[in-house]
Order: sequence, then structure tokens, then C-alpha cells
Amino acid sequence: MTDISIRITGRAGRITLQRPDALNAMTYDMCLAIETALDAWRDDPAVALVVIDAMGERAFCSGGDIADLYATGRAGDFAYGQKFWADEYRLNNKIFEYSKPVVSFLQGFTMGGGVGIGCHGSHRIVGDTSQIAMPEVGIGLVPDVGGSLMLALAPGRLGEYLGCTAARMNAGDAIFAGFADIYLPEAAWDSTIKTLELTGDVDHIKAQDVPASGPIENNQDAINRHFHGASLGDIWITLESDTSDFAQATLKQMKRNSPLSMACAIEILSRLRGPSLTMGKALDLEYRFTARAMEHGDFLEGIRAAIIDKDRQPKWQFADGVVPPMAVSKMLQPLGAQALKLKEEAQMKIGFIGLGNMGAPMAANLASAGFDVAGFDPAGTSAAGVGVASSAAQAASDADAVITMLPNGAILRSVAEELVPAMKSGAVLLDCSTVDVDSARAVAKQAQDAGLMAVDAPVSGGIGGASGGTLTFMAGGTEAGFLKVTPLFDIMGQKAVHCGEAGAGQAAKICNNMILGATMIATCEAFALADKLGLERQKMFDVVSTSSGYSWSMNAYCPAPGVGPQSPSDNGYTPGFAAELMLKDLGLSQQAAETADADTPMGALALALYKRFVEEEDGMGRDFSAMLPRFEGRGRD
Ligand code: NAD
Repeated sequence: MTDISIRITGRAGRITLQRPDALNAMTYDMCLAIETALDAWRDDPAVALVVIDAMGERAFCSGGDIADLYATGRAGDFAYGQKFWADEYRLNNKIFEYSKPVVSFLQGFTMGGGVGIGCHGSHRIVGDTSQIAMPEVGIGLVPDVGGSLMLALAPGRLGEYLGCTAARMNAGDAIFAGFADIYLPEAAWDSTIKTLELTGDVDHIKAQDVPASGPIENNQDAINRHFHGASLGDIWITLESDTSDFAQATLKQMKRNSPLSMACAIEILSRLRGPSLTMGKALDLEYRFTARAMEHGDFLEGIRAAIIDKDRQPKWQFADGVVPPMAVSKMLQPLGAQALKLKEEAQMKIGFIGLGNMGAPMAANLASAGFDVAGFDPAGTSAAGVGVASSAAQAASDADAVITMLPNGAILRSVAEELVPAMKSGAVLLDCSTVDVDSARAVAKQAQDAGLMAVDAPVSGGIGGASGGTLTFMAGGTEAGFLKVTPLFDIMGQKAVHCGEAGAGQAAKICNNMILGATMIATCEAFALADKLGLERQKMFDVVSTSSGYSWSMNAYCPAPGVGPQSPSDNGYTPGFAAELMLKDLGLSQQAAETADADTPMGALALALYKRFVEEEDGMGRDFSAMLPRFEGRGRD
């Protein structure tokens, strides 16, 4: 008997996993064999649908066969694992996108790699023995094989719960969570398969009502309450403060798992939620982690403890459960030329204008992802892997997309005068600078009149986000323009929200930065007050960063040197985001508030403070968080 049987029976392409003694764990060869069959059947008129099942009662497929991965990884060969995962994810995507019905019968354990084969087809059938789970965090991986897509789509915060606890879903829960479609008593499976083989028609599947809702669905309120936090730390705190059986059992499950994996799983789900959610993006993010999992993650230690030494005592990194945001960000950084490629696609040619604090790392990320990027900046700055153009027009000629990252609207308008005539028809002008709404609309109109597409997509996330590829883009412009530049957003950022027509991105940005300016001032003045009250800064951070006063200014960009993650305060307030740029943004928001007749007293006060700081005090050329030393030296007058 071979590990897998692939054949055509009647109208059905038939795949049967045949390793019941190994719970039908997927080997690399099985994965490649399934892909070959799907490719052959896609255009074969003899095959009307595909049916996937498995031998034995205990499992459809308990996961990927990880012994080989461990052996090669221990020997320092990370390339084998990377190829295995890349090929497996390509297969998962093919099942997800398959043009004919794919019907799977999921008895017993369907976990990890088994979910990738069994849970992406069009008709996923479960029965009374079904137990579906994504247990990867228990071996130092993240939910992968496209599972993160279903977790991100699951109701409420169920995705975080399932991904962090590896909880097993019965038939009812699997349907509730979106991992299965149809309940059918297992006694009826053989005859259903025979009918499908005979007719090639999925309408013959006679679904029945699930006998009862599952235990996970019944705990949905508690799950939403405990798992709504933005990070593993937030989730941990709410569970620890709750003495209920559910919270304590959940904590116990999570304490077995790799903290780094759980923190990254939560981050992946947060990046996936939103309008740019696709299977390609889910697999890309998963692969960023798995490609690094052996060298930098807990994967080898997880396998050692689970299946090699079987001591079940893994020595995880960050064993106290405190995972720094930087560690998460490093595991999920873009992989550049090593990024997952689901299909061979022609890469866009890109012109990049404005290689400053933000533009240079953004352009470098695109170049390292394999894009052909030509850059221009009159200051003579450059970026790794980016070709040097002698003018903006030269960088733009022949480019499919031209990205601008410039100081303000007046400069954008003047640069657009040069760019628009030089760009080829149908190309897209993508402005990522923060500028006034009127300039964004004027440049978009100029581009559209010249037969180009235009998208305004200012960013949030600072220089850390620009270099780590974790920016958030807020975009305005047509749907077609947005879709065309989405692959670029996926490299440079973690999230892109299409906010509306031209100018809508800038509107979202100035509202966001009005909040940022006010919260930075509030954070700085609170630190200065805490100093005067004799409170240690580290203690202040420890309390506020996990209490109701927390904010991005405190948690991710702390203005106090030596406290919190690395930020410009640790570098003498050399700008990441200069005070004069914050002044500009606050000016833009007040200008917009004036036009729209909106009452924004906090925004107006923040503008007045930054204006004084930049124009009359020592704020010019310093980071916007240098408000803290400003407040330190001042009394009430
Ligand atoms: P920066 O001053 O470091 O970079 C701007 C670059 O534009 C400079 O290198 C400059 O030489 C170049 N430039 C000026 N005139 C030009 C012209 N005519 N042609 C081509 N290039 C020209 O500023 P930055 O921090 O990189 O910010 C860029 C934009 O991003 C701004 O609109 C800013 O508001 C926005 N932004 C910045 C941050 C941040 O943290 N720095 C965060 C979000 C948004």
C-alpha cells in the first residue's frame, strides 16, 4: 500500500490518504502528488469534481510529517523546511482557488496540515468523530496552511482563541468557526461518495442539522471578552484576573504553547482583518514566520519536546509570556526576494521619489522583495537595492507605479508637474506623503486627466513601521487604482484600508495624527508630572502601558529614554517623526476642521503647543516626542 491513492472513479477525481497508522500525516511526497493530480484534473472534462477522503477511523489527517523537518533543521539546513512549507502553501492555495468542487470527508483528527488539505475546498463534510484544530503554537509555529485566513474570518475573537489554545472543534463548532460546511452522519459517507463518483454532482450531498451546538460556540461571549486585546500580554492579563473555570482552563492550555508563536499568531490575525484579507496575504504572512521558525523561532525546540525526546517540557523563548513587540515584528518582516510565490508573476517596475526617513526604508523593502525600483531625491540620499535616477522624470519613465514620499502638499504639487507627463499611460501615481486634502485631490485629478490612476495613501507607523514593513496605509482613490497597488502595500505594510475617493486617505490620516499629537503631549506631561511626584519612569510605564492610559505614544514610541521599546528618545530625540512634521499635520487638521466647521479644541491646543515648541523653543529638528524634556524643565507658569 502506498501512502496515497490518486485515481479517477466515474466522474470524480479521487484522492485517499492511506497512512492510517500515522494518522494519515502528510509527507512532502503526498503533498506534491496531490498538486500534480489537481493540475491534471483542472481542465480534464472527465473530472467533474474532486473527492478527498482518508483511511481509518481515527484521523482524516493529523498534520504534516515533521520528523524530516526536524532532522534537516537540527543539521542547520533551513532550506528544506522552507521549500516544504512553500510547496505545501502553494497546494493549499490551489485547493482554495480550485475551479471545480472539492469535497472532503473529515473524520477524527483534522489538524494543521490536514486542515490545509481538508478545509479549503468547496464542500467540507464533518461527522460525529470530527475534531478539527490548529495546534501549531504547541510546536513553535503559527497557525498556517491558510488556517489564519479562516481564523481571521471566524466570528468575534474565536480566531485568537483557537489559534492560541489549539482547542479542538467538534462538528458543530467547526461549522460555526467556518472550518466546515456540512454535517453528515459518518454511516452515510460511503454511499454519498459513491453517488458523487457516479453523478459528479454535489447537489446529491444531503446535509443534516448538527445534533447540538458545540462547547466552543457556547463560550463565545467569554472568548470575545478575553481575546479582544491587541497583544498576548493583554489577553494574558484578562485571563489571569478571572477565576472562572473557562478562564483558568484556557490559561492552562495557553501555558503549554510557545509565547512567541502565540504573540505572532495574534499579530497575523490583526494584520489580516480588514478589506485586504485574501488567502494570498494569509499565506504570505504565515510563511514570513515559518521561513524563520527553525532559525529564530521555537520550532526545533517544540518538536524536540513533543516527538523526539517526548519530555513535553519545551524551553520556549520569552517563557514568562512577555514577548516584546520587536520580537514579533522581526518574525513577520517581509522576506524580500525569499517571499512566498504562489504564482510566477511579472513584477512591477517602480519609481520612488523622496528617499528620506520614511521613503528610503519603504523603497528598500520593495527592492528586497524583488521589485525593480529606481529612486530619486535631490538631497542625494539612496536606499539599499534601489537604482539611482538623475531626476524624478527619469525614475518615473517606464514605471508601472510611481511612489512619492515628500514633505508637504506644495512640494507634491510641484513634483507632480514633472512626474505626470513622464509617466506611461495606465501607470499609477501613489502618493504616501501626508499632505492637505486639496493637494491630494488636485494631483489625483491631474493624473487622471493624463490617463493615469492616482491613489493617495498616507501612512501610520513611523520609521520603525517603514523599515519593518508594518505600516498602515489609509487610501483614497478608485477601486482599480487601490487594487493595482495592493501588492505594494502588502510588502511595505501590514494593513491597507480603502477609505473612499481621492483625498479620503489624507482625511483619515489627519484625524489620526490629531489624536497622536494630543496623546503624545498628554503622555509627556504625565511623565513630567510623575517625575515631580517621585514616581520612577519604569514603574510609570509598567502601569500605564497595561492600564487605561495606554496609547501608541506610550506603548510603542515611549518618549522617556530607556523605557519601553527602542524609540527616538533612546537616540537623543533624533527624529523618527520630526516635531515640524507633527506641526504640519496638526496644521492640516485645523485647516480641515475650519473648512468642515468642526469643533476640535484639543487639536487646536496641540497645534499651539507644537507651534511654540518648533518656532520659539528648541523643537526644530528634534523628534516630536522631545516634548518630554520640554515639559521636564517647566513649572506651572
Ligand atoms: P523626510 O524629510 O525625511 O523626507 C522627505 C524627503 O523628500 C527628503 O529626503 C527630501 O530631500 C525629499 N524631497 C524634498 N523635495 C523634493 C523634491 N522636490 N523632489 C524629490 N524629493 C524631494 O521626511 P519623512 O519623515 O520621510 O516624511 C515624509 C512624509 O511622510 C511626510 O509627508 C510626513 O508627514 C510623512 N510621515 C512621516 C512619518 C515619520 O515618522 N517620519 C510618519 C508618517 C508619515
